[in-house]
Amino acid sequence: MSAPLHLHTRLAALGAKPRHAELLLRAWLAGTPLSKALENRHCSFSPTIVAEFPALERELDLLATPVAEHTGSDGSARLLHALADGKTVESVLLLRDGVCVSSQVGCAVGCTFCMTGREGLIRNLTADEILAQVARARRIRNVRRVVFMGMGEPSHNLAHVLAAIDVLGNEGRFGHKELVFSTVGDKKLFDKLLARATKPAIALSLHTTRDALRAELLPRAPKAMVAELVTLAEHYARASGHPIQVQWTLLADVNDGDDELAALVELFRGKHAIVNFIPFNTVEGAGYERPSADRAHAMAKHLSEHGVLSKVRLSAGQDVDGACGQLRARSLARN
Ligand code: SF4
Repeated sequence: MSAPLHLHTRLAALGAKPRHAELLLRAWLAGTPLSKALENRHCSFSPTIVAEFPALERELDLLATPVAEHTGSDGSARLLHALADGKTVESVLLLRDGVCVSSQVGCAVGCTFCMTGREGLIRNLTADEILAQVARARRIRNVRRVVFMGMGEPSHNLAHVLAAIDVLGNEGRFGHKELVFSTVGDKKLFDKLLARATKPAIALSLHTTRDALRAELLPRAPKAMVAELVTLAEHYARASGHPIQVQWTLLADVNDGDDELAALVELFRGKHAIVNFIPFNTVEGAGYERPSADRAHAMAKHLSEHGVLSKVRLSAGQDVDGACGQLRARSLARN
């Protein structure tokens, strides 16, 4: 189980009622001052609680403090947040009212094409720290969609990620399909998510249909065969109503061949899924190249023509420290 939210703990100590906590949590998650909760005519706050608002705001601010921001020419923006202990994580303001949040500092999976995976896991984020990234984003822009696709593997920090998802689906008033749990896949994960009241959409990071290659590209992902993951994901998609978003980082001459296309058609034709090809963003020293844009689009077209919905998606803010973890890596190198 995750720890109770900071706001709940502080308000309980002040004698606040659950309704007070709910209104203040809503105000925070909306990116508005806590005093916004005073506008609710059906609930009055005691002077003791109101007097604590400035201190509470400061404490919530400290959960994730923006220390760097890079705006991409595509309109996205990559934010680097300092946590209270000085560690840093990235979030990205996405086009079409989305925010991509981190769930861990570092990551244990060690994907060979990912900057974040290089440093291993440093620590899990708390639900508070995950929610703080959403609250910060909403101070800047409208946010209707939260994607757990930043630094970290959400299934490795399940209690805190699920706690954050529950809060976003309730007090945050996000539609369930607008909460996207990105994962390399774990056989036990799908049933755990299905048992939740708030069922997020799943983005399954597959990257290849070949089990041996997948074990090389994602060296410390939980052991599971591609076919098993696809079966479990399909069951989740049908039960939750949200299509599985298959994530596929396109690496030239590694996973962009016709053999992969044929296997993708075999695996996904008739399934409730969409395959997203994401051309590789250069990561220094990774030893990979991105395929041409023509090849990426031809692959998506081929799948779509063979009954598998598919799109090419560019990582947000490719022109500024584009790949996940690069902004943090450069900040660490400067310090
Ligand atoms: S791609 Fe995702 S799962 Fe893989 S190492 Fe990077 S953060 Fe972790």
